[in-house]
Amino acid sequence: MVRATLVTATSLVLTGAVVAHAYLLKHQFYPTVVYLTKSSPSMAVLYIQAFVLVFLLGKFMRKVFFGQLRAAEMEHLIERSWYAVTETCLAFTVFRDDFSPRFVALFTLLLFLKCFHWLAEDRVDFMERSPNISWVFHMRVLSLMGLLGVLDFLFVNHACHSIITRGASVQLVFGFEYAILLTMVLTTLIKYVLHTIDLQSENPWDNKAVYMLYTELFTGFIKVLLYIAFMTIMIKVHTFPLFAIRPMYLAMRQFKKAVTDAIMSRRAIRNMNTLYPDATPEDLQASDNVCIICREEMVTGAKKLPCNHIFHSSCLRSWFQRQQTCPTCRMDVLRASNNNQTPAPAQAPPPAPPAPANAPPAPPANGESQNHVSWVFPGFSRWDMPGTPPQRATSAGSSRYGGAAALLRAPHPIPLVSEILTFRS
Ligand SMILES: [Zn+2]
Ligand SMILES: [Zn+2]
Repeated sequence: MVRATLVTATSLVLTGAVVAHAYLLKHQFYPTVVYLTKSSPSMAVLYIQAFVLVFLLGKFMRKVFFGQLRAAEMEHLIERSWYAVTETCLAFTVFRDDFSPRFVALFTLLLFLKCFHWLAEDRVDFMERSPNISWVFHMRVLSLMGLLGVLDFLFVNHACHSIITRGASVQLVFGFEYAILLTMVLTTLIKYVLHTIDLQSENPWDNKAVYMLYTELFTGFIKVLLYIAFMTIMIKVHTFPLFAIRPMYLAMRQFKKAVTDAIMSRRAIRNMNTLYPDATPEDLQASDNVCIICREEMVTGAKKLPCNHIFHSSCLRSWFQRQQTCPTCRMDVLRASNNNQTPAPAQAPPPAPPAPANAPPAPPANGESQNHVSWVFPGFSRWDMPGTPPQRATSAGSSRYGGAAALLRAPHPIPLVSEILTFRS
């Protein structure tokens, strides 16, 4: 903090001194400007001043639109900025012929705006976990999304215009980058609307997970198309765009994950409807009789999973949209159903034993490896913790987030759908 103030003050003093010196030499406005632009040391001071001003503007906008940043947001921002700076430097090597102060300024502006897109994305994801959303929050998110959307649109427009009138140039990269940012604004805005609807409703909204998934699928698809188009054009016009490899890979991976998630949840729900028996009154009497997802008593409309745990079928449906495991013992229902379908023993097999803690997951023997997210995306196997039954949420503070939402907030690592869906790049 002190250091930032010191740098700002030094830069201001230096700029003042340089400009005053030039004016004392030339006595008139125009010659002063010419003198300043011709003198390299003066220009260096002015460039530093420009960066300091950008930094101050960033701080100001952060205060206006976000207030205090959370530690996770800050960390995330720094991490992503490093990647962006590296990729920008790589992009400079492709366009070294166009290199000019204007070019650097445009890239700085792009990075500056990117930071706000990332922060907005993080902030909206945070809505799901924070029970109190004030009207200031809504005002900030909406005004920021509006501002970013308009700016992105204008930049895309400008880039298209420039490419059409003056041919392919570095504007190709800018047009593409702003188009990607525009899809990001769209995703964040849809997620914001979904979270807001969920917050307004009395009961947790069962279908939110589906809409989140399809949003991810739709925008992921647009992103992949954009990257493929960009790669093709760049290879034709300039050279292979090395700097776009990493973001393109991430976009493709994210899209693949969204597709897999959509298929998995549909399959789990179809299995539930067709394969699992309805719980009989005897089943209900033999068990606790309380659905652990919504914490309400079960009278009718309950389904029995292959592991013999019983839940409301409506609760299971929304649960399977987020993950395809038993909420109590975390048995993988897709794998269990597949075992059931192969020359089936008449009775349901005994519950699959949960994997031991910390052990790396062994690949399934029956070759159905595509059926489990953690085989497809090894990083997610960390969620496959053994089944300590989720604690029932205590009554304190659980009025709004009863049921599935409370389970998702239980202290054991069941991932929030946003955490599953949002790939941290
Ligand atoms: Zn229930
Ligand atoms: Zn179970």
